Amino acid sequence: MEKKPFCRKCLLDEIDENDYVRSVRKYIAEYPTEKRVSDEEYKRRLGICLECDYLDRGTCEVCGCYVEFRALRKEMKCPKGNRWAV
Ligand code: SF4
Repeated sequence: MEKKPFCRKCLLDEIDENDYVRSVRKYIAEYPTEKRVSDEEYKRRLGICLECDYLDRGTCEVCGCYVEFRALRKEMKCPKGNRWAV
C-alpha cells in the first residue's frame, strides 16, 4: 500500500498518526541550535508543564501550543504568568 506523504495542509482526519508524531519529533530534532534553549533548560520547562493543570495531551490549554515546541524556543515564555521564569 502506498503511503500518503505528510501534508501541512491536511486536517487531522487525513493524517496518519504515526506520520504526524514523526514529523513533530523531526521538527524538534532539526530546530536550529542557535534558536533553542539548552537541554537542561528544555527539561526544566517541560517539568513545569508536566505539573501544570493547563497541560492537556501535550498541548497548553492557555495558548494552544504543543509545549514541546514552545519550550524549545529561546524567545518563548509560558503564557500563564510566565511559570518558566527562573
Ligand atoms: S506553557 Fe505554562 S500554562 Fe502552558 S502548560 Fe506549560 S506551564 Fe502550563
